[in-house]
Amino acid sequence: MGTVYTVAAYGRDAEFLAETVNEVFEEVDRLDAQMSNYKPASELSHINREAAREDVVVEPQLFGLIQLCLHLSEDTGGAFDITVGPLMKAWGFFRGQGRVPSPQEIRDVLKDVGYGHVHLDAERRTIHFDEPGIELDLGAKAKGYAVDRAVEILKENGISSALVSSGTSSIYALGAPPGEKGWKISLRDPFDQNKAAETVVLKNFSLSTSGNYERFFKVGEKIYSHIMDPHTGMPVEGVISTCAFTERTTDSDGLSTALYVLGLEASRKYLARHPNIAAIFYLPSSAEKTLRRVSLQSASYQLPPGALVEIEK
Ligand code: AMP
Ligand code: MG
Repeated sequence: MGTVYTVAAYGRDAEFLAETVNEVFEEVDRLDAQMSNYKPASELSHINREAAREDVVVEPQLFGLIQLCLHLSEDTGGAFDITVGPLMKAWGFFRGQGRVPSPQEIRDVLKDVGYGHVHLDAERRTIHFDEPGIELDLGAKAKGYAVDRAVEILKENGISSALVSSGTSSIYALGAPPGEKGWKISLRDPFDQNKAAETVVLKNFSLSTSGNYERFFKVGEKIYSHIMDPHTGMPVEGVISTCAFTERTTDSDGLSTALYVLGLEASRKYLARHPNIAAIFYLPSSAEKTLRRVSLQSASYQLPPGALVEIEK
């Protein structure tokens, strides 16, 4: 998944904690081996090679994750779309340094993009693409999913205070450090990775960030980021970063990407219709290296018992 997983955990028995955290890393490795589109032997690569030719049976948890992704696509009018694989390649984000494809190339590639080409059969647990060239890319949700799996393992082993993160992009705060009300998490300054732009406090809740500084290339002063607008085939412009807060990390990961593509106004509408989401947008402002910060919250917002989310309004 091209990222570093970190677990900080509190408990009475250091040896037991270390063993449990090792179990977490084994599970993360297993998920990486399953969902990577860089590894030819992964289940995802197998699906991408075969699903246009025949129905492919999918492992139950991966099937569930793909279902969630397609659901988010429908819910966001296709702003979120795991069939962006061919676009990522065209823009040089797959094993590449980045390149600008011609308008004709983008039009051609867009024929191979569209979640509507992906068909799931829940009874047989199979996937089928109705066109060759379709490719799944779980980059926007798999990291959050792995964080949730890690948290499940920690909980199963009785650990009630831990912070699990995948790089700086997806984080779950389990319980709180001893004597604290929650985990303090710094959101980085988009212009300086060593500086914090703000701090949030979380307990039994997740946050995920999507930012134009994570993977990008520059041509002159123009930044081309790794998040695609599946409708235009172009990297999204006009957003520096989005941060989504939800109970499950799988959801905040998918949402940070989806809100990034939707932009501020469509995201407001999305949060009016969907409960229990908080979000922060960092948008460019007219002065160089400054940003405009907007925080949003679902119209219906009620945290589950035991959860804490402190964000500056
Ligand atoms: P994230 O950092 O979680 O926002 O995920 C970004 C990654 O998701 C990219 O590197 C692509 O692999 C993938 N991606 C890019 N654009 C989209 C999109 N519109 N919908 C779903 N996944 C995307
Ligand atoms: Mg994401």
